[in-house]
Amino acid sequence: MLRSVPSAVRSLIPSTGSIVFGQSVSYSQVTSNITQISTKLELRNHTSLKNEGFSAFQVRPSLTTRAHFSTCGHCNHDNAPTDMCASSSDTPKCWSCPVRLSGTKSLFCKECGVLQPPVKQDHFALFNMAPTFDIDTNKLELAFHALQNKLHPDRFCSRSQKEQTFSLAHAAHINSSYTTLRDPLARARYLISLHKPELLSEETTVTDTTILMEILELRERVADTDDSEELFRIYQEVAVKKAQTIEKLSEAFKREDYNAANDAVNTLSYYYSLNKELLSRVPGEVFSKHNVCPTL
Ligand SMILES: [Zn+2]
Repeated sequence: MLRSVPSAVRSLIPSTGSIVFGQSVSYSQVTSNITQISTKLELRNHTSLKNEGFSAFQVRPSLTTRAHFSTCGHCNHDNAPTDMCASSSDTPKCWSCPVRLSGTKSLFCKECGVLQPPVKQDHFALFNMAPTFDIDTNKLELAFHALQNKLHPDRFCSRSQKEQTFSLAHAAHINSSYTTLRDPLARARYLISLHKPELLSEETTVTDTTILMEILELRERVADTDDSEELFRIYQEVAVKKAQTIEKLSEAFKREDYNAANDAVNTLSYYYSLNKELLSRVPGEVFSKHNVCPTL
């Protein structure tokens, strides 16, 4: 978040001000300085400041003048002028021409149109989604298909070798992020890895004895029967348990209780493995007969 003061602002800050010109200062330092020097601003300065990324001025009834910044489209910091966004100051140049990209997440160079390499960003950021457990799965689907469509390797077969390599890397990143976010268990593990990764290295155990007994009982019933109708009934019971555990996960993440979330993850992974076994043992016609779509 550090960046040099724009020259127009620099020229307005009194030489006795707290900012040494040329040094890097934070956005808040600059805004507080603007407020401090506000009475010194004159109308003729407005245009030059505007050119530097300051979108508007407002003359307050008190006759003090205050700068208002446009929202930065790059970092989404409210009221941060684009040229003061740290990320935009760090924007890389296009690998193919000398032009600086419009943002770190730019996929294509606006000047020469070539595909840029993928940047390191978390799965949620890739799809412009908030990093929460309860996600809008329709939004995820739309964002995934839009990105996949833009960056599919088939679209780059007549492009340079470098762009082909980048498109493969983009496609792999998009697919792995999508797979992780789409599945509640993988999404929960990923969220825990972002907040409390040490929990994931611990042994996977279900500590709640009631839940543990339920899981053992279900396992026993699965092992003891070859009756497809009974297996289907257990499949449905497991589906209910899965949904209840996902609800617990959602509550735990809302409370930011990562220990409880991790407990629910451990329970859920047992139900996932039971579910997987049942899917392999319940014949497809039994699902059809009951008009139930088998779900992973
Ligand atoms: Zn370029």
